[in-house]
Amino acid sequence: MAKIVAFPVMALAALGMLLCLGSYLFEFAGLYSPPQNRPLILFLGVFIVWFPTIFLMNRLTADFKQKDMWKAALRGCPSWMQTSLWVLVGVVALLAFLPLALRAQRAYPDIFVLFPVCFYAASFCVTYSLINAEKHDSTRRCLNGHTISPMARFCEECGAPAAPDSTNSASI
Ligand SMILES: [Zn+2]
Repeated sequence: MAKIVAFPVMALAALGMLLCLGSYLFEFAGLYSPPQNRPLILFLGVFIVWFPTIFLMNRLTADFKQKDMWKAALRGCPSWMQTSLWVLVGVVALLAFLPLALRAQRAYPDIFVLFPVCFYAASFCVTYSLINAEKHDSTRRCLNGHTISPMARFCEECGAPAAPDSTNSASI
């Protein structure tokens, strides 16, 4: 049932991400001047995508501690995807806090448009993770080949650490 929700949400998130980035880049290049109501449209999309994402995230993280929330939510994603998500969030945050003076030298497009991109990207990763989490959870092994629980770092049975690649090789 959750997967049925996840697929369309993932598609919408990808579309939202492309539209945001696309309109930002075109505006940056001076090829496109956005309609006045663009922020409204983009944020409306975030709301549509974000509600089911929270629902799916709750399912993914129900058995985990609060501090492991994001790790648990994204456990079905390959590690490059998790890294890209945090890099993206970092870059947008950095751009947002660049001194205004720096931006005033040229008429840069409104950075505001890039915030929804983070939400769409997070939503995309969470839904992707949900679709792959089952496979990921069932293929987690310790170095000795015992099955271990999704977030465990050590085997409950023999105490050996989790096999390094079991997390990601399964979902690529
Ligand atoms: Zn073991």
